[in-house]
Amino acid sequence: MRPSLLDPLFASLSSLPGIGAKMGELYARLLGRESIEDCRIIDLIFHAPSAVIDRRKQPGIAYAPQGSIVTVTARVDRHQPPPRGNANVPYRVFLQDDTGEMALVFFRAKGNWLEKSLPIDETVMVSGKVDWFNGRVSMVHPDHVARLSEGQSLPLIEPVYPLTAGLSPKVLRKTIEAAAERVPDLPEWIDESLIKQQRFPQTADALKQLHHPEDEKDIDPQCSTRRRLAYDEFLAGQISLALVRSRLRKVPGVPVRPTGLLAKKVTDALPFSLTSSQSAAIADILADMAGEDRMLRLLQGDVGSGKTVVALMAMIAVVEAGGQAVLMAPTEILARQHLATLSQMARGTGVEINILTGRTKGRERDEILERIADGKAQILIGTHALFQDSVNYQNLQLAVVDEQHRFGVHQRLRLTSKGLSPHMLVMTATPIPRTLVLAAFGDMDVSKLTEKPAGRKPIQTVIVPGERLEEIVHRLQTAVAEGRKVYWICPLVEETEESNLMSVEERHAVLSQFFGKQVALIHGRMSGPEKDAVMAGFKRGETRLLVATTVIEVGVDVPDATIMVIEHAERFGLAQLHQLRGRVGRGSEASSCILLYSGKLSQNAEARLKIMRETEDGFLIAEEDLRLRGEGELLGTKQSGTPGFAIASLEAHGDLLEIARKDSHYLLDRDPELQSPRGEAIRVLLYLFRRDEAIRFLKAG
Ligand code: ADP
Ligand code: MG
Repeated sequence: MRPSLLDPLFASLSSLPGIGAKMGELYARLLGRESIEDCRIIDLIFHAPSAVIDRRKQPGIAYAPQGSIVTVTARVDRHQPPPRGNANVPYRVFLQDDTGEMALVFFRAKGNWLEKSLPIDETVMVSGKVDWFNGRVSMVHPDHVARLSEGQSLPLIEPVYPLTAGLSPKVLRKTIEAAAERVPDLPEWIDESLIKQQRFPQTADALKQLHHPEDEKDIDPQCSTRRRLAYDEFLAGQISLALVRSRLRKVPGVPVRPTGLLAKKVTDALPFSLTSSQSAAIADILADMAGEDRMLRLLQGDVGSGKTVVALMAMIAVVEAGGQAVLMAPTEILARQHLATLSQMARGTGVEINILTGRTKGRERDEILERIADGKAQILIGTHALFQDSVNYQNLQLAVVDEQHRFGVHQRLRLTSKGLSPHMLVMTATPIPRTLVLAAFGDMDVSKLTEKPAGRKPIQTVIVPGERLEEIVHRLQTAVAEGRKVYWICPLVEETEESNLMSVEERHAVLSQFFGKQVALIHGRMSGPEKDAVMAGFKRGETRLLVATTVIEVGVDVPDATIMVIEHAERFGLAQLHQLRGRVGRGSEASSCILLYSGKLSQNAEARLKIMRETEDGFLIAEEDLRLRGEGELLGTKQSGTPGFAIASLEAHGDLLEIARKDSHYLLDRDPELQSPRGEAIRVLLYLFRRDEAIRFLKAG
């Protein structure tokens, strides 16, 4: 149960004044939640300002520097409404102080409102950006106007928040102000010595100060307010991960004792020999599974590094030992592809491999469920459907999760809450830097596939402006005529009004004029069987140019596709570009990647494309990505809704993460059930940062 002192923070956001249905939608969007029902007051409190506007400069009208934000105290001298019938001329109000005269400029203003707020001869304070032109100074649409005789004032320092379209900064500021007032006193959950050493303020104070910056320094991630909150956030994360982990570990694993007979059949039949890092990873996994503790291992390997076969060897070992293994993929396409490749690789073994996804229905589904329940289904491939309540395993010993960055801790908890406690192997193609592994997964063992399978040729990457599209198309015609296969990626499914991004459908239509029936189209709105058919046609070579949205991003394997065109490459993040490019360069033929961009590149976009051109090293790309974009997107938290970090930033607060990790170990060693006074306070912390799922695992939860 959530400690009642947090109730005010967990009240619905709509309980704040001024948040009705329409505003609610905006706030939900702002906070990245489905609907206003999911938004709590605490969520808004964690919405930190990203900048401050400093309005303290009050130089006097004549000395206000061009383009700067100043505050002016002056007397209203006269009004100059626009001439009748000419709404394009602005309404001007002239102010005077000891140093000179300034015009306040209002476009399409209501005269009577201006007469009321700026009456002649009244002394007012206004703040905004000044503009000098032809020796005259003006201020267009001042941000604030206050009448001194009425005791009004304006903020001299103002926090600036990330916004969403339709939500005005003023309204947001007021709402956050109201939210911040609800912060109650909180117990202290960290050691006094650490507080002293780090000069941390108390959390409740930090939450309030967060929204009352006094100058630039208070926005800096290194200010004590933010460092305190970052520490709290890391600590909550580390403790919840540690609880989950200790719980997972407590359930003793079933030691897996493989015979090696089936494994030998598989390796003998492979058309290649394993790389040494593949062999090493397999050895790590077998050693883990042979022990009493349950395995929790991350297999990191760049796109195309050959993770699938490692997964197969792990699953085969379990089958040899008489258990069942599942492989969970993030999408239907991937699950089906895994089914195809794994069945092929395991052909000579007689092992039964089945698939279970959301699309498995009716009789087929019943039959598979039955085979899972009586243990006949030995290896099972699928999507989330693998862990629905209706699925009962006879003897599940290993769960492999592919492309983990799409899954959250949530899914992992879901598994264990079903009472299942298999060994876990998590595979990711995003080469996550160690700090991130730590933050997202806690202490996990890691195996890395460092070399690419032998015989791979480097991918040549070029950056090309969209104007040269035709030239590209002509070159592709030659390439296709030579029998090559091309992916063509467009960012969106539908053209929207506000963007003129090329839609896949339109691009498909245009390319069809050049390539006829050799062009195929695949996107997220298509049904599963439709997608399968398209992929199969492309794989078999009936079609040679596949126009796609990012549905093909993850894992699709067509080794003889050698050209990747990415349209609007400037819109993609580095990690995503790397993933996409990884679809080519998988066979023995030389591959190329063409990054098309439109318009003028921002500095950041240019940097991303250049990195892509210069390297294929996934680790380097991940590090650069972290540097350029921040860690949330790298982990794909946006898409999956994995709880990211509100305040903490790994770049800025990496030192704190390390301390938090040690602190959490220290605490849980002494008080594993969180029953000491500090433990009680820690429970509050877990709820505060919404990391409370783990509390269920405590005896006295
Ligand atoms: P990923 O790590 O991206 O999941 P895959 O497992 O899909 O990579 O492997 C990519 C391709 O490399 C597949 O076609 C696979 O058969 C092939 N492959 C895997 N291991 C080797 C190897 N040791 N030598 C040659 N090819 C390999
Ligand atoms: Mg893969």
